[in-house]
Amino acid sequence: MKSPVLDVQGLRTSFFSEGEEVPAVDNVDFHINEGEILGIVGESGCGKSVTSLSIMGLIPKPPGKIVGGKILFHGEDLTLAKEKRMREIRGNEIAMIFQEPMTSLNPLFTIGNQLIEAIKIHNKNWGKQKARDRAVEILKLVGLPRAEELINEYPHQLSGGMRQRVMIAMAMVCGPKVLIADEPTTALDVTIQAQILGLMKRLNEELNTAIMLITHDLGVVAEVCKRVVVMYSGKIVEEGDVHTIFNNPKHPYTVGLIKSIPDMREKQDRLYSIPGNVPKPGSIKQGCRFAARCEYALDKCKTQTPELFNVGSNHKVRCFLHEEQEVVG
Ligand code: SF4
Repeated sequence: MKSPVLDVQGLRTSFFSEGEEVPAVDNVDFHINEGEILGIVGESGCGKSVTSLSIMGLIPKPPGKIVGGKILFHGEDLTLAKEKRMREIRGNEIAMIFQEPMTSLNPLFTIGNQLIEAIKIHNKNWGKQKARDRAVEILKLVGLPRAEELINEYPHQLSGGMRQRVMIAMAMVCGPKVLIADEPTTALDVTIQAQILGLMKRLNEELNTAIMLITHDLGVVAEVCKRVVVMYSGKIVEEGDVHTIFNNPKHPYTVGLIKSIPDMREKQDRLYSIPGNVPKPGSIKQGCRFAARCEYALDKCKTQTPELFNVGSNHKVRCFLHEEQEVVG
């Protein structure tokens, strides 16, 4: 049985403004097994990115702070790690790629300069030629053509898809155990998106890198993930394997997300969208945070907060419609 490489337990991350605590991630538990691809899904403002920044130790302090819980990486609690230790872990052990590669690449330096710098930070005794050879090798690994020439080019000379491949190369340079990909395909057109997802799947299979894929797009999850965690307003509202979540979603929010995927087989006059918006963090003091948007809301949904209930093997749902089931311990 595979063991968790990353185990997040009761994570709470808040931001503080004028003495008021605003919880962005509220008591979140999940794990990623070695070599697994886990999808974290939800609309903007659900707490997905704050969760990943918490894992990377990149929450800006102040105003942010991890106020509770543990982030166990191979058993080591990263919430207790000093910045020096986090610098060793970031890039070497856990790497991250972001949505828009142009904002992450420095336009003033060549691709080679940026890759070689990243390689040398993590391999201090390597000479320039060795680092350059590794840079070329990793560019080839992510499927970039004419890597020897590309290394001398600037980010603006590359297409969006090529830049995202460079970002993935940069993240993979030290062979991390975990890759966190935050909306890695959102800025790309669909054909390039398919190529990038295919690349991530290949790297996962060939290098056994665990991937935490953050997205608002359930279609992306269906393509590459084995398990999925659905977040809403800072909390996990549903978790299960991809097959179960797609074929038997239980939480009204997940049902709405799946209904929002356009069906190319049928002519649709109107695309479905979940009414309303994600509430501002901290604005709902009691009750289910989805109640204002939920067509099944019961009276108690406005005053009581649902627990996470076990509704099947490895399938959990936070909704009173399933409260006859056992509460997740
Ligand atoms: Fe809807 Fe109530 Fe379930 Fe929340 S707990 S999702 S409001 S039915």
